[in-house]
Amino acid sequence: MSLKVKVSSPNVSYTEETISSTYTYHTTHVEPQADASFLAKPQATTFEFQTSLKVPRLGVMLVGWGGNNGSTLTGSLIANRLGLSWPTKEGVKKSNYYGSITQASTVCLGTNSSGVEQYIALGDLLPMVHPNDLVIDGWDINSANLAEAMERAQVLDYNLQVQLKPHLENLKPRPSIYCPDFIAANQADRANNVLSGTKKEMVEQVRADIRDFKAKQKLDKVIVLWTANTERFCDVREGLNLTAKELLASIERNEDEMSPSSLFAVASIQEGCTYINGSPQNSLVPGVIDLAEKENVYVGGDDFKSGQTKLKSVLVDFLISAGIKPRSIVSYNHLGNNDGKNLSAPQQFRSKEISKSNVVDDMVESNRILYEPGEKPDHCVVIKYVPFVADSKRAMDEYTSEIFMGGLNTIAVHNTCEDSLLATPIILDLVILAEMCERISLRKEGEADFARFNSVLSLLSYLLKAPMVPRGTPIVNALFRQRACIENIFRACIGLSPQNYMLLEHKLAAPQQLAAGVKTAEKVGEKSSLSAASSGARVPQLGRARGTVQAIES
Ligand code: NAD
Repeated sequence: MSLKVKVSSPNVSYTEETISSTYTYHTTHVEPQADASFLAKPQATTFEFQTSLKVPRLGVMLVGWGGNNGSTLTGSLIANRLGLSWPTKEGVKKSNYYGSITQASTVCLGTNSSGVEQYIALGDLLPMVHPNDLVIDGWDINSANLAEAMERAQVLDYNLQVQLKPHLENLKPRPSIYCPDFIAANQADRANNVLSGTKKEMVEQVRADIRDFKAKQKLDKVIVLWTANTERFCDVREGLNLTAKELLASIERNEDEMSPSSLFAVASIQEGCTYINGSPQNSLVPGVIDLAEKENVYVGGDDFKSGQTKLKSVLVDFLISAGIKPRSIVSYNHLGNNDGKNLSAPQQFRSKEISKSNVVDDMVESNRILYEPGEKPDHCVVIKYVPFVADSKRAMDEYTSEIFMGGLNTIAVHNTCEDSLLATPIILDLVILAEMCERISLRKEGEADFARFNSVLSLLSYLLKAPMVPRGTPIVNALFRQRACIENIFRACIGLSPQNYMLLEHKLAAPQQLAAGVKTAEKVGEKSSLSAASSGARVPQLGRARGTVQAIES
Protein backbone atom coordinates (compact mmCIF):
# COMPACT_ATOMS: atom_id res chain seq x y z
CA MET A 1 0.00 0.00 0.00
CA SER A 2 1.57 3.32 -1.01
CA LEU A 3 0.67 6.02 1.46
CA LYS A 4 0.56 9.69 0.56
CA VAL A 5 1.65 10.64 4.11
CA LYS A 6 4.03 8.64 6.24
CA VAL A 7 4.63 9.94 9.77
CA SER A 8 7.95 9.66 11.50
CA SER A 9 7.24 9.68 15.23
CA PRO A 10 7.75 7.37 18.21
CA ASN A 11 3.95 7.55 18.67
CA VAL A 12 3.19 6.08 15.25
CA SER A 13 3.87 2.63 13.88
CA TYR A 14 3.01 0.83 10.66
CA THR A 15 2.43 -2.77 9.64
CA GLU A 16 1.31 -4.08 6.24
CA GLU A 17 -2.29 -3.90 7.46
CA THR A 18 -2.55 -1.02 9.94
CA ILE A 19 -1.38 2.36 11.16
CA SER A 20 -1.28 2.63 14.97
CA SER A 21 -0.96 5.93 16.77
CA THR A 22 -0.87 7.05 20.36
CA TYR A 23 -2.50 10.40 20.71
CA THR A 24 -2.92 12.81 23.61
CA TYR A 25 -6.30 14.48 23.48
CA HIS A 26 -6.39 17.83 25.30
CA THR A 27 -9.67 19.19 26.63
CA THR A 28 -10.69 21.71 29.27
CA HIS A 29 -13.02 20.91 32.12
CA VAL A 30 -14.87 24.03 33.22
CA GLU A 31 -16.62 24.60 36.53
CA PRO A 32 -18.88 27.67 36.72
CA GLN A 33 -18.35 29.41 40.08
CA ALA A 34 -20.83 31.04 42.44
CA ASP A 35 -19.47 34.51 41.59
CA ALA A 36 -20.23 33.92 37.86
CA SER A 37 -16.58 33.28 37.02
CA PHE A 38 -15.27 29.96 35.66
CA LEU A 39 -12.63 27.57 36.91
CA ALA A 40 -10.95 25.90 33.93
CA LYS A 41 -8.87 22.75 34.33
CA PRO A 42 -6.85 21.46 31.37
CA GLN A 43 -7.16 17.71 30.93
CA ALA A 44 -5.25 15.22 28.84
CA THR A 45 -6.48 11.76 27.82
CA THR A 46 -4.35 9.32 25.89
CA PHE A 47 -6.03 7.43 23.05
CA GLU A 48 -4.70 4.71 20.82
CA PHE A 49 -5.97 4.66 17.25
CA GLN A 50 -5.78 1.73 14.87
CA THR A 51 -6.60 2.25 11.21
CA SER A 52 -6.85 -0.53 8.69
CA LEU A 53 -4.95 0.23 5.50
CA LYS A 54 -6.96 -2.19 3.37
CA VAL A 55 -9.01 -0.09 0.96
CA PRO A 56 -12.02 -2.27 0.16
CA ARG A 57 -13.86 -2.80 -3.08
CA LEU A 58 -16.90 -0.73 -2.15
CA GLY A 59 -20.43 -0.83 -3.48
CA VAL A 60 -23.02 1.91 -2.97
CA MET A 61 -26.73 1.22 -3.19
CA LEU A 62 -28.86 4.30 -3.69
CA VAL A 63 -32.50 4.35 -2.72
CA GLY A 64 -33.95 6.66 -5.39
CA TRP A 65 -31.28 5.69 -7.92
CA GLY A 66 -33.30 7.01 -10.86
CA GLY A 67 -33.71 10.50 -9.37
CA ASN A 68 -31.73 13.62 -10.21
CA ASN A 69 -29.05 12.92 -7.61
CA GLY A 70 -28.85 9.20 -8.36
CA SER A 71 -28.52 9.61 -12.12
CA THR A 72 -26.10 12.54 -11.81
CA LEU A 73 -23.91 10.58 -9.42
CA THR A 74 -23.84 7.53 -11.66
CA GLY A 75 -23.18 9.48 -14.86
CA SER A 76 -20.51 11.68 -13.33
CA LEU A 77 -18.63 8.74 -11.83
CA ILE A 78 -18.47 7.07 -15.22
CA ALA A 79 -17.45 10.37 -16.84
CA ASN A 80 -14.59 10.77 -14.35
CA ARG A 81 -13.53 7.13 -14.66
CA LEU A 82 -13.35 7.48 -18.44
CA GLY A 83 -11.83 10.96 -18.28
CA LEU A 84 -14.59 12.35 -20.49
CA SER A 85 -14.68 15.92 -21.76
CA TRP A 86 -17.39 17.59 -23.80
CA PRO A 87 -17.84 20.74 -25.88
CA THR A 88 -20.12 23.54 -24.68
CA LYS A 89 -20.70 27.08 -25.93
CA GLU A 90 -18.16 28.25 -23.31
CA GLY A 91 -15.51 25.80 -24.49
CA VAL A 92 -14.54 22.24 -23.61
CA LYS A 93 -15.43 21.06 -20.09
CA LYS A 94 -13.64 18.21 -18.34
CA SER A 95 -14.90 15.78 -15.72
CA ASN A 96 -13.85 16.64 -12.20
CA TYR A 97 -14.71 16.18 -8.55
CA TYR A 98 -15.18 19.83 -7.58
CA GLY A 99 -17.38 20.12 -4.50
CA SER A 100 -16.03 16.98 -2.87
CA ILE A 101 -14.00 17.72 0.25
CA THR A 102 -12.14 14.42 0.03
CA GLN A 103 -11.20 14.89 -3.64
CA ALA A 104 -10.98 18.63 -4.24
CA SER A 105 -10.18 20.30 -0.92
CA THR A 106 -6.82 20.39 0.78
CA VAL A 107 -5.46 20.43 4.31
CA CYS A 108 -2.20 21.91 5.52
CA LEU A 109 -0.04 19.03 6.69
CA GLY A 110 2.69 21.28 8.12
CA THR A 111 5.61 23.35 6.91
CA ASN A 112 8.85 22.39 5.18
CA SER A 113 12.31 23.48 6.28
CA SER A 114 11.85 26.85 4.54
CA GLY A 115 8.67 27.47 6.48
CA VAL A 116 6.46 26.90 3.42
CA GLU A 117 3.12 25.25 4.15
CA GLN A 118 2.62 21.84 2.53
CA TYR A 119 -0.90 20.95 1.41
CA ILE A 120 -2.44 17.62 0.46
CA ALA A 121 -5.96 16.52 -0.49
CA LEU A 122 -8.07 15.83 2.59
CA GLY A 123 -8.73 12.40 1.10
CA ASP A 124 -5.00 11.65 1.16
CA LEU A 125 -4.59 11.97 4.94
CA LEU A 126 -5.60 8.30 5.17
CA PRO A 127 -5.95 5.65 2.45
CA MET A 128 -9.54 6.13 1.28
CA VAL A 129 -11.66 4.62 -1.47
CA HIS A 130 -11.37 6.62 -4.70
CA PRO A 131 -14.74 7.59 -6.21
CA ASN A 132 -13.68 6.18 -9.60
CA ASP A 133 -13.60 2.74 -7.97
CA LEU A 134 -17.12 2.84 -6.49
CA VAL A 135 -19.63 0.33 -7.84
CA ILE A 136 -23.20 1.66 -7.96
CA ASP A 137 -26.57 -0.08 -7.78
CA GLY A 138 -29.91 0.77 -6.22
CA TRP A 139 -33.66 0.87 -6.14
CA ASP A 140 -36.29 3.21 -7.52
CA ILE A 141 -40.09 3.11 -7.61
CA ASN A 142 -39.75 4.22 -11.23
CA SER A 143 -38.50 1.75 -13.82
CA ALA A 144 -36.58 4.19 -16.07
CA ASN A 145 -33.08 3.00 -16.84
CA LEU A 146 -30.23 5.30 -15.84
CA ALA A 147 -29.87 6.79 -19.33
CA GLU A 148 -33.56 7.77 -19.35
CA ALA A 149 -33.25 9.01 -15.78
CA MET A 150 -30.27 11.19 -16.74
CA GLU A 151 -32.23 12.72 -19.64
CA ARG A 152 -35.25 13.31 -17.43
CA ALA A 153 -33.09 15.02 -14.79
CA GLN A 154 -31.76 17.65 -17.26
CA VAL A 155 -28.68 18.15 -15.12
CA LEU A 156 -25.63 17.07 -17.13
CA ASP A 157 -24.72 18.87 -20.35
CA TYR A 158 -26.28 17.42 -23.49
CA ASN A 159 -22.94 16.58 -25.12
CA LEU A 160 -21.91 14.67 -22.03
CA GLN A 161 -25.25 12.85 -21.93
CA VAL A 162 -24.69 11.65 -25.49
CA GLN A 163 -21.37 10.08 -24.48
CA LEU A 164 -22.75 8.58 -21.27
CA LYS A 165 -25.92 7.09 -22.74
CA PRO A 166 -24.43 3.76 -23.87
CA HIS A 167 -22.88 3.26 -20.43
CA LEU A 168 -26.14 3.92 -18.59
CA GLU A 169 -28.76 2.15 -20.71
CA ASN A 170 -28.14 -1.22 -19.12
CA LEU A 171 -28.38 0.05 -15.56
CA LYS A 172 -31.87 -0.48 -14.21
CA PRO A 173 -33.09 0.25 -10.67
CA ARG A 174 -34.39 -2.64 -8.60
CA PRO A 175 -38.07 -2.50 -7.58
CA SER A 176 -38.53 -0.60 -4.32
CA ILE A 177 -40.78 -0.28 -1.28
CA TYR A 178 -43.56 2.19 -2.03
CA CYS A 179 -46.02 3.43 0.60
CA PRO A 180 -47.98 6.26 -1.05
CA ASP A 181 -48.85 7.76 2.31
CA PHE A 182 -45.24 8.85 2.94
CA ILE A 183 -44.38 10.88 -0.17
CA ALA A 184 -46.47 13.46 -2.02
CA ALA A 185 -49.53 12.25 -3.93
CA ASN A 186 -48.07 13.96 -7.01
CA GLN A 187 -45.43 11.19 -7.20
CA ALA A 188 -47.97 8.41 -7.75
CA ASP A 189 -47.55 8.32 -11.54
CA ARG A 190 -43.83 7.50 -11.11
CA ALA A 191 -44.55 4.35 -9.11
CA ASN A 192 -44.31 1.55 -11.70
CA ASN A 193 -41.43 -0.46 -10.21
CA VAL A 194 -42.57 -1.48 -6.75
CA LEU A 195 -42.29 -4.46 -4.44
CA SER A 196 -45.37 -6.23 -3.19
CA GLY A 197 -45.98 -8.25 -0.05
CA THR A 198 -45.86 -7.49 3.64
CA LYS A 199 -43.36 -5.08 5.12
CA LYS A 200 -41.40 -8.00 6.51
CA GLU A 201 -41.29 -9.63 3.04
CA MET A 202 -40.16 -6.37 1.46
CA VAL A 203 -37.37 -5.94 4.02
CA GLU A 204 -36.27 -9.50 3.24
CA GLN A 205 -36.23 -8.68 -0.49
CA VAL A 206 -34.11 -5.58 0.08
CA ARG A 207 -31.70 -7.66 2.17
CA ALA A 208 -31.53 -10.22 -0.63
CA ASP A 209 -30.81 -7.39 -3.12
CA ILE A 210 -27.87 -6.21 -1.02
CA ARG A 211 -26.45 -9.74 -0.83
CA ASP A 212 -27.00 -10.25 -4.56
CA PHE A 213 -25.18 -7.02 -5.45
CA LYS A 214 -22.32 -7.84 -3.09
CA ALA A 215 -21.86 -11.33 -4.50
CA LYS A 216 -22.24 -10.46 -8.20
CA GLN A 217 -19.83 -7.53 -8.01
CA LYS A 218 -17.41 -9.33 -5.64
CA LEU A 219 -17.58 -6.46 -3.17
CA ASP A 220 -15.96 -6.30 0.25
CA LYS A 221 -18.55 -3.86 1.56
CA VAL A 222 -21.78 -2.09 0.67
CA ILE A 223 -23.13 1.25 1.93
CA VAL A 224 -26.81 2.09 1.48
CA LEU A 225 -27.84 5.72 1.04
CA TRP A 226 -31.33 7.23 0.84
CA THR A 227 -31.57 9.84 -1.92
CA ALA A 228 -35.22 9.15 -2.71
CA ASN A 229 -38.08 11.58 -2.24
CA THR A 230 -38.51 13.37 1.04
CA GLU A 231 -41.06 11.55 3.15
CA ARG A 232 -43.37 13.00 5.77
CA PHE A 233 -42.20 12.48 9.34
CA CYS A 234 -43.39 9.18 10.79
CA ASP A 235 -44.84 8.82 14.29
CA VAL A 236 -42.38 8.04 17.03
CA ARG A 237 -44.07 6.36 19.97
CA GLU A 238 -43.92 3.62 22.50
CA GLY A 239 -44.91 0.26 21.09
CA LEU A 240 -44.07 1.35 17.54
CA ASN A 241 -40.39 2.22 17.13
CA LEU A 242 -38.70 3.38 20.33
CA THR A 243 -36.52 0.28 20.63
CA ALA A 244 -35.11 -2.26 18.19
CA LYS A 245 -37.50 -4.85 19.63
CA GLU A 246 -40.55 -2.63 19.06
CA LEU A 247 -39.36 -1.74 15.58
CA LEU A 248 -38.88 -5.35 14.48
CA ALA A 249 -42.22 -6.33 16.04
CA SER A 250 -43.93 -3.48 14.14
CA ILE A 251 -42.46 -4.79 10.89
CA GLU A 252 -43.67 -8.33 11.75
CA ARG A 253 -47.25 -7.10 12.20
CA ASN A 254 -47.08 -5.01 8.99
CA GLU A 255 -47.59 -1.71 10.80
CA ASP A 256 -48.74 1.10 8.46
CA GLU A 257 -46.61 3.70 10.19
CA MET A 258 -43.31 2.00 9.28
CA SER A 259 -41.90 4.32 6.60
CA PRO A 260 -40.04 2.92 3.55
CA SER A 261 -36.91 4.81 4.62
CA SER A 262 -36.95 3.17 8.06
CA LEU A 263 -37.49 -0.22 6.40
CA PHE A 264 -34.43 0.36 4.20
CA ALA A 265 -32.47 1.36 7.30
CA VAL A 266 -33.45 -1.88 9.03
CA ALA A 267 -32.56 -4.04 6.02
CA SER A 268 -29.24 -2.29 5.63
CA ILE A 269 -28.31 -2.58 9.31
CA GLN A 270 -29.32 -6.24 9.35
CA GLU A 271 -26.94 -6.81 6.43
CA GLY A 272 -24.17 -5.02 8.36
CA CYS A 273 -24.14 -2.08 5.95
CA THR A 274 -23.79 1.57 6.97
CA TYR A 275 -27.02 3.47 6.21
CA ILE A 276 -27.08 7.19 5.40
CA ASN A 277 -30.21 9.31 5.18
CA GLY A 278 -29.81 12.11 2.63
CA SER A 279 -33.33 13.45 3.05
CA PRO A 280 -34.87 15.34 5.96
CA GLN A 281 -37.41 12.81 7.27
CA ASN A 282 -36.93 11.06 10.61
CA SER A 283 -36.05 7.60 9.23
CA LEU A 284 -33.50 7.11 12.00
CA VAL A 285 -36.08 6.70 14.76
CA PRO A 286 -34.82 5.59 18.19
CA GLY A 287 -35.55 1.94 17.34
CA VAL A 288 -33.33 2.15 14.24
CA ILE A 289 -30.50 3.65 16.28
CA ASP A 290 -30.95 0.98 18.94
CA LEU A 291 -30.74 -1.68 16.22
CA ALA A 292 -27.62 -0.06 14.71
CA GLU A 293 -25.95 -0.02 18.12
CA LYS A 294 -26.83 -3.66 18.74
CA GLU A 295 -25.51 -4.70 15.32
CA ASN A 296 -22.47 -2.37 15.57
CA VAL A 297 -23.33 -0.67 12.28
CA TYR A 298 -23.07 3.03 11.41
CA VAL A 299 -25.99 5.28 10.57
CA GLY A 300 -25.74 8.90 9.44
CA GLY A 301 -28.24 11.65 8.68
CA ASP A 302 -30.17 13.77 8.02
CA ASP A 303 -30.47 15.65 4.70
CA PHE A 304 -27.55 16.61 2.45
CA LYS A 305 -26.19 20.07 3.29
CA SER A 306 -25.62 21.42 -0.20
CA GLY A 307 -26.52 25.06 -0.91
CA GLN A 308 -28.51 27.52 1.13
CA THR A 309 -28.02 25.79 4.47
CA LYS A 310 -24.30 25.36 3.91
CA LEU A 311 -23.97 29.10 3.38
CA LYS A 312 -26.18 29.77 6.40
CA SER A 313 -23.96 27.63 8.61
CA VAL A 314 -21.04 29.83 7.56
CA LEU A 315 -22.71 33.25 7.57
CA VAL A 316 -24.41 32.95 10.95
CA ASP A 317 -21.21 31.58 12.46
CA PHE A 318 -19.36 34.60 11.02
CA LEU A 319 -21.94 37.09 12.30
CA ILE A 320 -22.24 35.71 15.82
CA SER A 321 -18.52 35.15 16.22
CA ALA A 322 -17.99 38.75 15.07
CA GLY A 323 -20.20 39.89 17.97
CA ILE A 324 -23.07 40.80 15.63
CA LYS A 325 -26.60 39.73 16.52
CA PRO A 326 -28.72 38.22 13.73
CA ARG A 327 -32.36 39.11 14.49
CA SER A 328 -34.10 37.73 11.43
CA ILE A 329 -33.14 35.14 8.84
CA VAL A 330 -35.56 34.72 5.96
CA SER A 331 -34.90 32.06 3.34
CA TYR A 332 -36.86 31.74 0.12
CA ASN A 333 -36.27 28.92 -2.36
CA HIS A 334 -37.81 28.05 -5.64
CA LEU A 335 -36.93 24.99 -7.64
CA GLY A 336 -38.46 23.08 -10.48
CA ASN A 337 -37.15 19.55 -10.24
CA ASN A 338 -39.02 16.50 -8.97
CA ASP A 339 -37.73 17.18 -5.45
CA GLY A 340 -39.47 20.58 -5.63
CA LYS A 341 -42.65 18.95 -6.90
CA ASN A 342 -42.65 16.52 -3.99
CA LEU A 343 -41.89 19.31 -1.52
CA SER A 344 -44.90 21.29 -2.76
CA ALA A 345 -47.04 18.98 -0.62
CA PRO A 346 -47.44 20.34 2.95
CA GLN A 347 -46.27 17.31 4.94
CA GLN A 348 -43.14 16.79 2.86
CA PHE A 349 -42.39 20.54 2.97
CA ARG A 350 -42.71 20.35 6.76
CA SER A 351 -39.92 17.72 6.91
CA LYS A 352 -37.65 20.04 4.93
CA GLU A 353 -38.66 23.08 6.98
CA ILE A 354 -37.67 21.30 10.20
CA SER A 355 -34.29 20.20 8.88
CA LYS A 356 -33.53 23.70 7.57
CA SER A 357 -34.66 25.48 10.73
CA ASN A 358 -32.39 24.24 13.51
CA VAL A 359 -29.16 25.02 11.73
CA VAL A 360 -28.34 28.19 13.68
CA ASP A 361 -29.30 26.96 17.16
CA ASP A 362 -25.86 25.99 18.45
CA MET A 363 -24.33 29.28 17.32
CA VAL A 364 -27.10 31.29 19.01
CA GLU A 365 -26.78 29.19 22.18
CA SER A 366 -23.02 29.79 22.30
CA ASN A 367 -23.33 33.53 22.87
CA ARG A 368 -25.02 34.72 26.06
CA ILE A 369 -23.75 38.24 25.45
CA LEU A 370 -25.97 38.60 22.39
CA TYR A 371 -28.87 36.28 23.25
CA GLU A 372 -30.86 35.69 26.45
CA PRO A 373 -31.58 32.04 27.29
CA GLY A 374 -34.36 30.85 24.97
CA GLU A 375 -34.03 33.87 22.65
CA LYS A 376 -33.59 33.08 18.95
CA PRO A 377 -33.57 35.06 15.72
CA ASP A 378 -36.82 34.99 13.72
CA HIS A 379 -36.15 32.28 11.17
CA CYS A 380 -38.48 31.62 8.26
CA VAL A 381 -38.09 29.14 5.39
CA VAL A 382 -40.22 29.21 2.23
CA ILE A 383 -40.02 26.71 -0.66
CA LYS A 384 -41.97 27.08 -3.90
CA TYR A 385 -42.21 24.79 -6.92
CA VAL A 386 -41.46 26.59 -10.20
CA PRO A 387 -41.00 23.94 -12.93
CA PHE A 388 -39.19 26.23 -15.38
CA VAL A 389 -36.04 26.59 -13.25
CA ALA A 390 -35.76 22.77 -13.09
CA ASP A 391 -32.70 21.59 -11.10
CA SER A 392 -31.29 25.12 -10.93
CA LYS A 393 -32.65 26.00 -7.51
CA ARG A 394 -32.72 29.66 -6.50
CA ALA A 395 -32.12 30.46 -2.87
CA MET A 396 -32.60 34.00 -1.61
CA ASP A 397 -31.75 34.87 1.94
CA GLU A 398 -32.01 38.02 3.99
CA TYR A 399 -30.03 38.29 7.22
CA THR A 400 -30.85 41.33 9.36
CA SER A 401 -28.61 41.85 12.36
CA GLU A 402 -28.28 44.30 15.19
CA ILE A 403 -24.89 46.00 15.19
CA PHE A 404 -23.10 48.65 17.24
CA MET A 405 -25.22 51.19 19.11
CA GLY A 406 -28.60 50.07 17.84
CA GLY A 407 -27.68 50.02 14.15
CA LEU A 408 -28.96 47.45 11.70
CA ASN A 409 -27.05 45.51 9.07
CA THR A 410 -28.83 43.64 6.29
CA ILE A 411 -27.19 41.09 4.02
CA ALA A 412 -29.19 39.80 1.04
CA VAL A 413 -27.86 36.79 -0.83
CA HIS A 414 -28.97 35.32 -4.15
CA ASN A 415 -27.59 31.82 -4.57
CA THR A 416 -28.15 29.77 -7.70
CA CYS A 417 -27.75 26.24 -6.37
CA GLU A 418 -27.35 23.73 -9.18
CA ASP A 419 -29.04 21.24 -6.92
CA SER A 420 -27.77 17.86 -8.04
CA LEU A 421 -24.33 19.13 -9.03
CA LEU A 422 -23.92 20.36 -5.46
CA ALA A 423 -25.45 17.27 -3.86
CA THR A 424 -23.57 14.61 -5.83
CA PRO A 425 -20.06 15.34 -4.47
CA ILE A 426 -21.60 15.38 -0.99
CA ILE A 427 -22.98 11.89 -1.56
CA LEU A 428 -19.50 10.76 -2.58
CA ASP A 429 -17.92 12.26 0.52
CA LEU A 430 -20.56 10.73 2.79
CA VAL A 431 -19.83 7.30 1.40
CA ILE A 432 -16.04 7.65 1.34
CA LEU A 433 -15.84 9.12 4.85
CA ALA A 434 -18.29 6.62 6.34
CA GLU A 435 -16.30 3.74 4.85
CA MET A 436 -13.07 5.25 6.18
CA CYS A 437 -14.61 5.42 9.66
CA GLU A 438 -15.46 1.72 9.42
CA ARG A 439 -11.71 1.05 9.36
CA ILE A 440 -10.81 3.19 12.39
CA SER A 441 -10.93 1.86 15.94
CA LEU A 442 -9.75 3.45 19.15
CA ARG A 443 -9.40 2.89 22.86
CA LYS A 444 -8.58 5.01 25.86
CA GLU A 445 -5.31 4.26 27.59
CA GLY A 446 -5.83 1.34 29.98
CA GLU A 447 -8.90 -0.06 28.19
CA ALA A 448 -8.62 -3.64 26.98
CA ASP A 449 -10.51 -3.48 23.69
CA PHE A 450 -10.51 -1.26 20.67
CA ALA A 451 -13.94 0.00 19.63
CA ARG A 452 -15.42 1.82 16.65
CA PHE A 453 -17.03 5.26 16.88
CA ASN A 454 -20.59 5.53 18.18
CA SER A 455 -23.09 4.03 15.73
CA VAL A 456 -24.53 7.50 15.09
CA LEU A 457 -21.67 8.73 12.94
CA SER A 458 -21.55 12.42 13.86
CA LEU A 459 -18.25 12.90 11.99
CA LEU A 460 -20.44 13.22 8.87
CA SER A 461 -22.11 16.39 10.23
CA TYR A 462 -20.29 18.68 7.77
CA LEU A 463 -22.25 17.08 4.95
CA LEU A 464 -25.68 17.07 6.60
CA LYS A 465 -28.23 19.79 7.24
CA ALA A 466 -29.65 18.42 10.46
CA PRO A 467 -26.79 16.30 11.77
CA MET A 468 -27.67 13.37 13.98
CA VAL A 469 -25.37 12.91 16.95
CA PRO A 470 -25.32 10.35 19.75
CA ARG A 471 -27.67 11.16 22.64
CA GLY A 472 -26.14 13.73 25.02
CA THR A 473 -23.59 14.97 22.46
CA PRO A 474 -23.50 18.66 21.49
CA ILE A 475 -24.84 19.27 17.98
CA VAL A 476 -22.46 21.35 15.89
CA ASN A 477 -23.83 23.10 12.81
CA ALA A 478 -21.03 25.64 12.24
CA LEU A 479 -19.40 24.51 9.01
CA PHE A 480 -15.75 25.13 9.80
CA ARG A 481 -15.97 23.40 13.17
CA GLN A 482 -17.53 20.43 11.38
CA ARG A 483 -14.73 20.34 8.84
CA ALA A 484 -12.05 20.70 11.51
CA CYS A 485 -13.57 17.69 13.29
CA ILE A 486 -13.00 15.47 10.23
CA GLU A 487 -9.51 16.81 9.58
CA ASN A 488 -8.37 16.59 13.19
CA ILE A 489 -9.69 13.08 13.80
CA PHE A 490 -7.89 11.88 10.69
CA ARG A 491 -4.74 13.68 11.86
CA ALA A 492 -5.05 11.88 15.21
CA CYS A 493 -5.17 8.56 13.34
CA ILE A 494 -1.68 9.31 12.04
CA GLY A 495 -0.43 10.80 15.30
CA LEU A 496 -0.45 14.46 14.19
CA SER A 497 -1.64 17.21 16.50
CA PRO A 498 -4.85 19.04 15.57
CA GLN A 499 -4.63 22.04 13.29
CA ASN A 500 -4.47 25.03 15.67
CA TYR A 501 -3.86 27.98 13.34
CA MET A 502 -1.66 29.74 15.91
CA LEU A 503 1.42 30.01 13.65
CA LEU A 504 3.44 30.70 16.80
CA GLU A 505 6.68 30.05 14.97
CA HIS A 506 6.00 33.17 12.89
CA LYS A 507 4.96 35.29 15.85
CA LEU A 508 8.22 35.08 17.77
CA ALA A 509 10.29 38.21 18.11
CA ALA A 510 13.13 38.51 15.60
CA PRO A 511 16.59 37.56 16.93
CA GLN A 512 17.63 41.23 17.17
CA GLN A 513 14.64 41.90 19.36
CA LEU A 514 15.46 39.02 21.62
CA ALA A 515 19.03 40.28 21.95
CA ALA A 516 17.87 43.82 22.72
CA GLY A 517 15.50 42.59 25.43
CA VAL A 518 11.92 43.75 25.90
CA LYS A 519 11.16 47.11 24.29
CA THR A 520 8.02 48.73 22.98
CA ALA A 521 6.72 46.01 20.71
CA GLU A 522 5.64 48.09 17.73
CA LYS A 523 8.81 50.16 17.38
CA VAL A 524 11.10 47.18 17.84
CA GLY A 525 9.12 45.19 15.28
CA GLU A 526 9.54 47.92 12.67
CA LYS A 527 13.28 48.37 13.21
CA SER A 528 14.16 44.71 13.29
CA SER A 529 12.16 44.01 10.14
CA LEU A 530 14.07 46.70 8.30
CA SER A 531 17.48 45.61 9.53
CA ALA A 532 16.75 41.94 8.90
CA ALA A 533 15.52 42.74 5.40
CA SER A 534 18.54 44.85 4.54
CA SER A 535 20.78 42.00 5.65
CA GLY A 536 18.84 39.64 3.33
CA ALA A 537 17.35 37.62 6.21
CA ARG A 538 13.77 36.29 6.07
CA VAL A 539 11.49 38.67 7.99
CA PRO A 540 8.01 38.27 9.35
CA GLN A 541 5.44 39.20 6.72
CA LEU A 542 3.87 42.57 7.40
CA GLY A 543 0.57 43.55 5.86
CA ARG A 544 0.12 42.00 2.46
CA ALA A 545 2.26 39.66 0.44
CA ARG A 546 6.01 39.91 0.30
CA GLY A 547 7.52 40.37 3.75
CA THR A 548 10.31 42.68 2.47
CA VAL A 549 11.16 46.33 3.03
CA GLN A 550 9.60 47.15 -0.35
CA ALA A 551 6.36 45.43 0.64
CA ILE A 552 6.24 47.39 3.88
CA GLU A 553 6.87 50.70 2.17
CA SER A 554 4.52 50.25 -0.78
P1 NAD B 1 -35.68 13.22 -7.28
O1 NAD B 1 -37.12 13.43 -7.01
O2 NAD B 1 -35.13 13.61 -8.59
O3 NAD B 1 -35.29 11.71 -7.03
C1 NAD B 1 -35.88 10.92 -6.08
C2 NAD B 1 -36.09 9.55 -6.66
O4 NAD B 1 -36.58 8.73 -5.61
C3 NAD B 1 -37.11 9.50 -7.77
O5 NAD B 1 -36.55 8.88 -8.90
C4 NAD B 1 -38.25 8.67 -7.20
O6 NAD B 1 -38.87 7.88 -8.18
C5 NAD B 1 -37.53 7.85 -6.17
N1 NAD B 1 -38.31 7.32 -5.05
C6 NAD B 1 -39.31 7.88 -4.34
N2 NAD B 1 -39.70 7.07 -3.34
C7 NAD B 1 -38.92 5.97 -3.41
C8 NAD B 1 -38.82 4.79 -2.67
N3 NAD B 1 -39.62 4.55 -1.64
N4 NAD B 1 -37.89 3.88 -3.02
C9 NAD B 1 -37.06 4.09 -4.08
N5 NAD B 1 -37.12 5.19 -4.83
C10 NAD B 1 -38.03 6.12 -4.50
O7 NAD B 1 -34.93 14.02 -6.08
P2 NAD B 1 -33.39 14.45 -5.99
O8 NAD B 1 -33.28 15.84 -6.48
O9 NAD B 1 -32.54 13.40 -6.54
O10 NAD B 1 -33.24 14.51 -4.40
C11 NAD B 1 -33.32 13.33 -3.67
C12 NAD B 1 -33.50 13.61 -2.20
O11 NAD B 1 -32.37 14.32 -1.72
C13 NAD B 1 -34.72 14.47 -1.87
O12 NAD B 1 -35.37 14.00 -0.72
C14 NAD B 1 -34.12 15.81 -1.55
O13 NAD B 1 -34.90 16.57 -0.66
C15 NAD B 1 -32.81 15.38 -0.93
N6 NAD B 1 -31.85 16.46 -0.96
C16 NAD B 1 -31.39 16.95 -2.15
C17 NAD B 1 -30.48 18.00 -2.16
C18 NAD B 1 -29.93 18.55 -3.43
O14 NAD B 1 -29.26 19.54 -3.41
N7 NAD B 1 -30.14 17.92 -4.54
C19 NAD B 1 -30.07 18.56 -0.96
C20 NAD B 1 -30.55 18.03 0.21
C21 NAD B 1 -31.42 16.99 0.20
